Amino acid sequence: MKIVWIYPDLLSTYGDQGNTIVLERRAALRGIPTETVHLRSDEPVPPDGDVYLLGGGEDRPQILAAQRLRNDGGLHAAVQRGAVVFAVCAGYQILGHEFGGEEGQPLPGLGLLDIRSGRGEQRAVGEVVGDVATELNVPRITGFENHQGVTHIGPNAWPLARVVAGVGNGGGDGTEGAYSGRILGTYMHGPALVRNPGLADLLLRWAVGAELQPIDDSWAGRLREERLNAVLTSG
Ligand code: GLN
Repeated sequence: MKIVWIYPDLLSTYGDQGNTIVLERRAALRGIPTETVHLRSDEPVPPDGDVYLLGGGEDRPQILAAQRLRNDGGLHAAVQRGAVVFAVCAGYQILGHEFGGEEGQPLPGLGLLDIRSGRGEQRAVGEVVGDVATELNVPRITGFENHQGVTHIGPNAWPLARVVAGVGNGGGDGTEGAYSGRILGTYMHGPALVRNPGLADLLLRWAVGAELQPIDDSWAGRLREERLNAVLTSG
């Protein structure tokens, strides 16, 4: 399985790179060999990856990353082939039709996911908890958010989760993240796939096109429980 970690030099905040490590590890535990490309922003996007990961970023690196990915076209080609894409925060906004620049001006995104983002009045900072869309079969997710962006989901994408705590998409509809086909975006750092092994397994299932052997997640489960309790009982 070829994993492409897009532009760690521009998009990687709050440990988002941990998402690659968890995918590699959870694939290896099922006997699936992986190869990860750490793709710098001056390199062409290989169109033959199985899973593409994008992280969060400050406004300027986000704008630069969007320009380079639009000009490159490799991610579009990969999506047309049916590749899996998982994007966090700035990466999530970039996948949409447009996102807000440093002054809130609308800037073009990649148009790979039917969402539109702009800038909200207030930064959303803190813990997020969400109940995932039932058809995805992933337990309650938890993460850390820090963004000014507000995201609206169009008719060709679906909310990843319903917010239980925190802000998420912030458009007043109580949703967090979005997905369509094998493209999934979220505001959750953490890293999201470390905190939520169920989400990591969803991406792996999509990539291999089959159910996966279960893994003993008792330690991860205890840490998740602690985190969820801490957020949901903090008032
Ligand atoms: N710059 C974007 C925003 O503030 C994304 C931030 C992030 O990726 N943490 O909305």
